[in-house]
Amino acid sequence: MRGAISEMRYKRILLKLSGQAVSGDQDSGFSPDALDHIADQVLDLHRLGIQISLVIGGGNIFRGTMSSKWGIERAEADNIGMMGTVINSLMLRGVLTGRSQGQAEVRVMTAIPINTIAEPYIRLRAIHHLEKGYIVIFAGGTGNPYVTTDYTAALRAMETRSDALLFAKNQARGIFTADPQQDPTARLYRRVHYNTIIRRNLKVVDQSCILLARDHSLPLHLFDFGERDTMRDICAGDDPGTLVTNVAEDQLE
Ligand code: UDP
Repeated sequence: MRGAISEMRYKRILLKLSGQAVSGDQDSGFSPDALDHIADQVLDLHRLGIQISLVIGGGNIFRGTMSSKWGIERAEADNIGMMGTVINSLMLRGVLTGRSQGQAEVRVMTAIPINTIAEPYIRLRAIHHLEKGYIVIFAGGTGNPYVTTDYTAALRAMETRSDALLFAKNQARGIFTADPQQDPTARLYRRVHYNTIIRRNLKVVDQSCILLARDHSLPLHLFDFGERDTMRDICAGDDPGTLVTNVAEDQLE
């Protein structure tokens, strides 16, 4: 039966949500509708028996790239951004626990120790949580400045031996040949090699993430997170949106 865990292509995935995934149509803060949508999608997958971890960005609160605007040194601005991801992670834990009515065990693990509200990140413990069916949220980025949560997502996906990294990028249903907001002739890649993204300097996912994923052949999926059940289809074997892979031939829609 399609949908049975034994038939799934991916049994353990990491979902990367941008900060905007929780703010919805607003530039910052939180949207209850957006949080509901995330909870529905994640809990659906969890009910199927897929092991899920999450990395959420902090763009709805603060990004390190805003440092000059605020006259703050970059490394300090990155600390603020990392703390923003902790706030988002706690919000997600609260919403997922509440919406599942306690059926889902959700753990937040932080790269920066904040031991009274979350567990410290310990790789083997994270894997153990996933094996037990807990949803794990990795907060605080890598704990280091000058990188983003896209890179964190690839790193944690590798560390936890995840089968694939799924990206819920706001208002992006995949990777295009150019920015579709600026170039109306831009076309969607159905499948694209990591090196094409680097060569064409496509900015939808951070290049540090692409390079790490390429070097370890970690499949990346970019898809329309607004559509229901897409993650389930991806785990089952479909490739809606864009699959980033090391298959040589790029394929356009
Ligand atoms: N950040 C960091 N180190 C990390 C991950 C994140 O310094 O390992 C900081 C960085 O300033 C970044 C911010 O946290 O801009 C929020 O993350 P990101 O910009 O990736 O959020 P998103 O764009 O996904 O909402």
